[in-house]
Amino acid sequence: NVSAHNKSGFALANHELNAAFVERLDLENRLRRAIHRGELSVVYQPKINLGRGQISEAEALVRWNDPDIGMIPPSRFIAIAENAGLIGLLGAYILTTACQEAVSWGHDTRGASTVAVNVSAIQLQDPGFPDTVRKALADTGLSPENLILEVTESAVMDDTDIVLPNMRAIATMGVRFAIDDFGTGYSNFDNLRRLPIHSLKIDKRFVDQITENQNDARICQAMIALGRALNLVVVAEGVETHEQSLFLKAYGCDQLQGFYFSRPLNRVEFREFVEARNSQHQ
Ligand code: C2E
Ligand code: MG
Ligand code: MG
Ligand code: MG
Repeated sequence: NVSAHNKSGFALANHELNAAFVERLDLENRLRRAIHRGELSVVYQPKINLGRGQISEAEALVRWNDPDIGMIPPSRFIAIAENAGLIGLLGAYILTTACQEAVSWGHDTRGASTVAVNVSAIQLQDPGFPDTVRKALADTGLSPENLILEVTESAVMDDTDIVLPNMRAIATMGVRFAIDDFGTGYSNFDNLRRLPIHSLKIDKRFVDQITENQNDARICQAMIALGRALNLVVVAEGVETHEQSLFLKAYGCDQLQGFYFSRPLNRVEFREFVEARNSQHQ
């Protein structure tokens, strides 16, 4: 009976939609509660300077461990925060936490000094965002030159009428911008030229096959050359092997980041890691 089949098919789809909706709503409520209770944390992944091999910077990455569900990756919950109108609050919390942590590194001469914080498209489009940055710096006492904001190419392209003035206002404070996941969005040379950008982060997907795939190797080589020609600092993300690090170093990369050197670490582990490495690479 065709119509009965259709009917049950529809009921099933409807049920699945409801389940997805309920799950999302549950996550949203849990996230709202966790943000208000200060239950999210920030971990730090070192960026290794090629040349002397020491660490002066780290990328701050948010972590959410729900008591019932366990770890929920940012690739999942950042979008939920954006849709639920929570990203402003969450972003300000991450920014302030990371700035505060970087201030405390600055007290140790062997420590890192600079922290890079990821900024989502919605934050970048908020006319109040420059004030959020200004407030985080003022509240923590971090020098603007010790803060980098990581933005993606698509975030920058999204709503240029607000994003460009925001970026210029923030750059005027002395804060620097990095283009994250470079090569995966709409790469636009005009933007690279017009925007106050300090560094390019080559996406992991180009790094992955660099030792096996000649095309990927050439793409990495070309992106590094482009960055250097534009006087930008070039960082490679997702470096997992010694061989990859040798290729990237030979191509002229400035900084490397990835599990080969270190996973993202909690604040105590990060300080120990940097202290140990920097005392060997002066
Ligand atoms: P991203 O900014 O490109 O961050 C790099 C991601 O790659 C991180 O994942 C990091 O843990 C991971 N990673 C680093 N090295 C390696 C490696 O060698 N191998 C592999 N397989 N992975 C590596 P994570 O922390 O899960 O973050 C994923 C994405 O979520 C980030 O990509 C960023 O877009 C977003 N995100 C993370 N934290 C924040 C945050 O505080 N605010 C915002 N707005 N977005 C964030
Ligand atoms: Mg990033
Ligand atoms: Mg990235
Ligand atoms: Mg990425």
